[in-house]
Amino acid sequence: MERIKVIGAGLAGCEAAYRAAKEGFKVTLYEMRPSVMTPAHTGGGFAELVCSNSLKSTDLCTAQGVLKREMKLLDSLIIEAAEATAVPAGGALAVDREKFSLYIENKIKSLPEIEVVRAERTEIDDYTVIAAGPLASAALTEELKKVTGGEYLNFFDAVAPIVTKESIDFSKAFYAGRYGKGGEDYLNCPMDAEEYYTFCEELVSAEKAVLREFEKKDVFNACMPVEIMAAKGKDTLRFGPLRPVGLTDPTTGKRPFSVVQLRKEDERGSMWNIVGFQTNLKFAEQKRVFSLIPALKNAEFVRYGVMHRNTFVNAPKVLGEGFSLAARPKVFLCGQLSGVEGYAESAASGIIAGINVCRVLKGQRPVTPPENTAIGGLMKYITSPNENFQPMHVGFPLMGEPITGIKDKTKRKAAYSERAERDFAVFKENL
Ligand SMILES: Cc1cc2nc3c(=O)[nH]c(=O)nc-3n(C[C@H](O)[C@H](O)[C@H](O)COP(=O)(O)OP(=O)(O)OC[C@H]3O[C@@H](n4cnc5c(N)ncnc54)[C@H](O)[C@@H]3O)c2cc1C
Repeated sequence: MERIKVIGAGLAGCEAAYRAAKEGFKVTLYEMRPSVMTPAHTGGGFAELVCSNSLKSTDLCTAQGVLKREMKLLDSLIIEAAEATAVPAGGALAVDREKFSLYIENKIKSLPEIEVVRAERTEIDDYTVIAAGPLASAALTEELKKVTGGEYLNFFDAVAPIVTKESIDFSKAFYAGRYGKGGEDYLNCPMDAEEYYTFCEELVSAEKAVLREFEKKDVFNACMPVEIMAAKGKDTLRFGPLRPVGLTDPTTGKRPFSVVQLRKEDERGSMWNIVGFQTNLKFAEQKRVFSLIPALKNAEFVRYGVMHRNTFVNAPKVLGEGFSLAARPKVFLCGQLSGVEGYAESAASGIIAGINVCRVLKGQRPVTPPENTAIGGLMKYITSPNENFQPMHVGFPLMGEPITGIKDKTKRKAAYSERAERDFAVFKENL
């Protein structure tokens, strides 16, 4: 019987190998650590959490909670390990990272179907699941370039925040492209002089996330954070990304003092990207400072801006069905490398890739959960055409048609969750 090869015993790779073994396939799982280290991992343990020890919320009225419910229904090893090694963290699923890693490693090693090879793997044969993560080894990345086309591989994230449409105050924003071009593609959030200067001061003094040494070079050569730009001079932003030229505020009939522009993030326009706001501020600080923009006073963030080293493919161009590669349908790519973002998302993509590599070996088509679910919505998002593709985590705005007609926010979130539950049950039933 053909052996399945999984490259990387991280969050995605452990899930993929576990799933394939549970389906009765023989698996070779390659892990290069500890002989070849990444700049962020500290040892040789499987599924090492490189930063926070939290897998985020379990509340079923959040997209993260829905994601975990779906993962559990697919017998996720990562969720099983997280629950077995959880530490108190309010509504979040946080873990003792060493026990978590050990639990997963022991479970994988206890399965006779899985052979673990402690070595760097660079060959990309058929029936390989590439789960080498955002810090994939250089030699493997070179091979992946050949398969995907070099221009479709990125090496850092410099991401601006994204907010939901429903949280924007439209009485303080107006649609318009500069000089009348672009129609409703841009939403403009004007600020007067006082609002602008207060905003700049807070931006400059806000607390920043600490960048690791290896992250500084790539990131800053690539894209300047908005807070660094603001620190260059009090008018720098107003002549840069916040310039008001070519725009007239319909409520005043005049050109605003400064304008923050939002650009549609998805086809439906339920998510909007804050243009030019690549940032390294801590998440709580992003919420506090960006809420000083009048139209964004109550903004809900689908994702915050991040700046860190991150190898990932341009998923809309590179991925085929069910985390396969369009150019090599018997090869699968999952985890952060495939364009998803976050621990739980990476693990979930590993489960789907694991299911699908088995299906392809059995002569079946790969599957994708429906769009209304957390996993299916994310898969749809990362494979939809997108000129500015950046990795994404799960969120209700990704999960199918927007639910309208329910004013109460908590009830609306519950409705998204219930719809996802129904659709996921059907998917699971037909697996
Ligand atoms: C610095 C940093 C901090 C992050 N912090 C967070 C956070 O706090 N919360 C969050 O939700 N997400 C975070 N992320 C994003 C992401 O969720 C994690 O990187 C996550 O671990 C990704 O899972 P993965 O399975 O794709 O990759 P990983 O968990 O990194 O697993 C990939 C594995 O592949 C191995 N490998 C690489 N190349 C080869 C090769 N050629 N042969 C054999 N093995 C190989 C690696 O050693 C590693 O074990 C962070 C990312 C980075 C880079």
